[in-house]
Amino acid sequence: KKEKEFVKNLVRSVENFPEKGVIFRDITTALKNKKGLQIIIKDLTERYKDKGIDYVVGADARGFIFGAAIAYNIGAGFVPARKPGKLPAEVESVEYSLEYGKNSIEIHKDAFSKGDRILIVDDLLATGGTAKAMVQLVEKLGAKVVELAFMIELADLKGRELLDGYEVYSQLVY
Ligand code: 5GP
Repeated sequence: KKEKEFVKNLVRSVENFPEKGVIFRDITTALKNKKGLQIIIKDLTERYKDKGIDYVVGADARGFIFGAAIAYNIGAGFVPARKPGKLPAEVESVEYSLEYGKNSIEIHKDAFSKGDRILIVDDLLATGGTAKAMVQLVEKLGAKVVELAFMIELADLKGRELLDGYEVYSQLVY
């Protein structure tokens, strides 16, 4: 609809970042827009306010921006999924493959109780590797993934297929 089109026009596409041949979708230009930020967060709040979400889990680092705002609005708690070595207490961790090499993400071991209902949030769904690792991490800790939400989905990279069996919502599709 019209509001989505307005936000899509605020996203800046940067060619050859972070490497040659890649078009990076830069969300900072949408977030800094007063009306743009309102539209983005309002839409996610409406979608999740009555879904019985206990915790919103945001992916380091851009997932924190959306995650905290949604959690506050729907009365859920916020839990960060962080890059290795950042969280101070005992952590659970999941490793995942990147195009070159590996990465991992961590959540505090005591973050959830069994059966807690979780919304996973990140800025962008590409191959789905990051999101899949988040799902595994949440489930390892005994909680239940209700849905995954993204501002942007890059459809060609088929992240949705990697997340088969889970509910996936994206505000804008490229
Ligand atoms: P995936 O694991 O799905 O391949 O990659 C998604 C992750 O990479 C997300 O955490 C996202 O922040 C980051 N990412 C990959 N491509 C882009 C892009 O074009 N724009 C933005 N903003 N983030 C990207």
